[in-house]
Amino acid sequence: GCPGRLLELKGNIRVLCRLRPGTPSSLVSLEPGPSGTVTTCYRGRQRRFRLDWVFSPEASQEEVFRELEPAVLSCLQGYSVCIFTYGQTGTGKTYSMEGPPEDPGIAPRALQSLFQEMGTEGQHRVTLSMVEIYNEAVRDLLAPGPPERLAVRQGPAGRGGIQVAGLTYWDVPDLEMLHQMLSLGRSNRATAATTKNPHSSRSHALVTLTLRTASPPRGPGTAGTLHLVDLAGSERAWKAGAAGPSRGDRDGAQRLREARTINRSLLALGGVMAALRARRPHVPFRDSQLTRLLQPALGPGATAVLLLQISTRPEDLGETVCSLKFAERVG
Ligand code: ADP
Ligand code: MG
Repeated sequence: GCPGRLLELKGNIRVLCRLRPGTPSSLVSLEPGPSGTVTTCYRGRQRRFRLDWVFSPEASQEEVFRELEPAVLSCLQGYSVCIFTYGQTGTGKTYSMEGPPEDPGIAPRALQSLFQEMGTEGQHRVTLSMVEIYNEAVRDLLAPGPPERLAVRQGPAGRGGIQVAGLTYWDVPDLEMLHQMLSLGRSNRATAATTKNPHSSRSHALVTLTLRTASPPRGPGTAGTLHLVDLAGSERAWKAGAAGPSRGDRDGAQRLREARTINRSLLALGGVMAALRARRPHVPFRDSQLTRLLQPALGPGATAVLLLQISTRPEDLGETVCSLKFAERVG
């Protein structure tokens, strides 16, 4: 490895790409590594997409985290870092972000790495919050009572301050407590799942860690933040909703509504990232709850990393091309 690579990426948006393991396909081929490419052959047309990093198909959880670790640790210098997993349902977003207990993903590794780096001297105060956005409703996954819909308000004028009324912020003194809180949040996300329609793939999950130091950090702010965002599946509405619901088909109507709000919020995220990258004066943060919540984190000087998860299955090719186009727009 070459530690420090991503530190050069501070204040930037970078796109990394990982494959869902499976039978490789002649329709999706890779040139892995830094500035790697993914080539697709869809409807007789070949397209080549260049990304900041393409993982080889057999890349381990550890290899993926190694690329992200410098960005994660920059939070300790007061930087703001957002890491997103993006892609069609079933491509491994949650696997990469959380991973199974025996092979942990980005979130548990990031926490471990941060706590290790902070040491035991207690110079940092670590605060955790965790929310889910489902159909544009924001729910606290760590609320002591049953999760209720929270209002997102504009905070003190002019500084992009956002307040989520009633959201709980937990002080986490150690790694063990942090892991416990995370699994609590995860199980609260899962509770709302229905068998027919796995809710978790239709919602965005945001874990936010704030790291404050007693002494002023070397970086730009007084507090570093790390946002770990497992985005809802990016598949398009007409697929999720099939041909559209028939009259009286409540599940169908519900699915279509979900798919539309998800598409709208992912589009908003893409719009925000594209505007930031192009340094456009107007950044459309207000277009979705997701981008409103992340507004303080996606300002100038922030680092955003999008981990694009793609499938190699021939039947997913249309979605794979769409995901790569999204990456091309923001990266
Ligand atoms: P998503 O969150 O994008 O809907 P999941 O993370 O739930 O997708 O992954 C779908 C399935 O594929 C899960 O059973 C998961 O364990 C498996 N999977 C995904 N990526 C990998 C990987 N890199 N190695 C092994 N299994 C994986
Ligand atoms: Mg998932």
